[in-house]
Amino acid sequence: MKIAIAGGTGFIGRHLIKYFLERKYSLILISRNRKPSSHSLIRNATWAELKSDVRVLEGVDAIVNLAGETINQRWTNAAKERILQSRLDTVKQIADIVSRMEKKPQVVVNASGISIYGTSETKTFVEHSDPNVSDFLSGVVAQWEQAMDSIPDTRIVKLRLGIVLGMDGGAFPKMMLPYKLGIGGRIGSGRQVLSWIHIHDLCRLIEFCIENEDIIEQINATAPQPVTNDEFGRALAKAMNTSHRFPVPAFMMKLMFGELSTLLLEGQRALPYLATEYEFHFQYPVLESALRDLLGSAKQL
Ligand code: NDP
Repeated sequence: MKIAIAGGTGFIGRHLIKYFLERKYSLILISRNRKPSSHSLIRNATWAELKSDVRVLEGVDAIVNLAGETINQRWTNAAKERILQSRLDTVKQIADIVSRMEKKPQVVVNASGISIYGTSETKTFVEHSDPNVSDFLSGVVAQWEQAMDSIPDTRIVKLRLGIVLGMDGGAFPKMMLPYKLGIGGRIGSGRQVLSWIHIHDLCRLIEFCIENEDIIEQINATAPQPVTNDEFGRALAKAMNTSHRFPVPAFMMKLMFGELSTLLLEGQRALPYLATEYEFHFQYPVLESALRDLLGSAKQL
């Protein structure tokens, strides 16, 4: 299989590249800057190069688009604009690239987020739940997904990601830090729901979406058993053999992180209804097994 990955230098992309190379897929990495690679199965292209010539992508079976400005920064007005525009621009460029390719890829898998459902402590969200634009992030994701509809003549999968758990990127290393220091505890009320997915299951699910032609439109990329923030902290403390007894009040999170704190203080219970319907088998369906694997693999480093 031949796959193009945009934003492959990021946390998820690095894992996906490794996963695909283990399967001997040939890859074309689309990036803002040229990244030389000596691997025989990897070629590189920049967005700028693809503006004038898309031939390097001819013959790709799938495009996976993970590109976008990080949300892990203070949400100033300028940062918010970059977070939104980088996503709209890269999707627009993918649409333009696909329109100019003679042989279209069979599928474009584009990152999205479960933030599109808004936040709730009580509701459960599946793929056919209505989007609810109620804050900055849900607005970004709604516009991001709308932009994906402009990608022509191919199957589109909108991969609604939960919090991706891996040792070397995303939110998890930051969530571990207070527990490493022995000052872990629930955040805010602790009742906010955290819908998570192990990075390895995510890579497997992306491959599953590429191979399974029936999957179109949105799919929740979350494990089948979301947990509350309090449950997450307790499980993490247990796995790390430390305590969970120093709560951080909501006002302190707001002082420290500004509007970004909504990510930690609010959440949503999103279930992988479609993945389950299509009989995708999660290797890490419950948090305890995911944590055991992540922390175990870290010990081996
Ligand atoms: P990263 O921030 O680690 O990587 C994203 C990649 O996007 C970067 O490596 C970079 O690639 C490219 N990029 C960064 N800034 C810009 C910009 N201003 N314009 C264009 N491209 C840019 O993200 P993740 O791997 O963690 O996540 C991938 C996608 O999934 C993101 O869009 C993220 O919002 C979304 N997501 C992730 C979640 C998670 O838990 N990790 C949860 C929900 C959604 P390069 O330098 O090569 O151009």
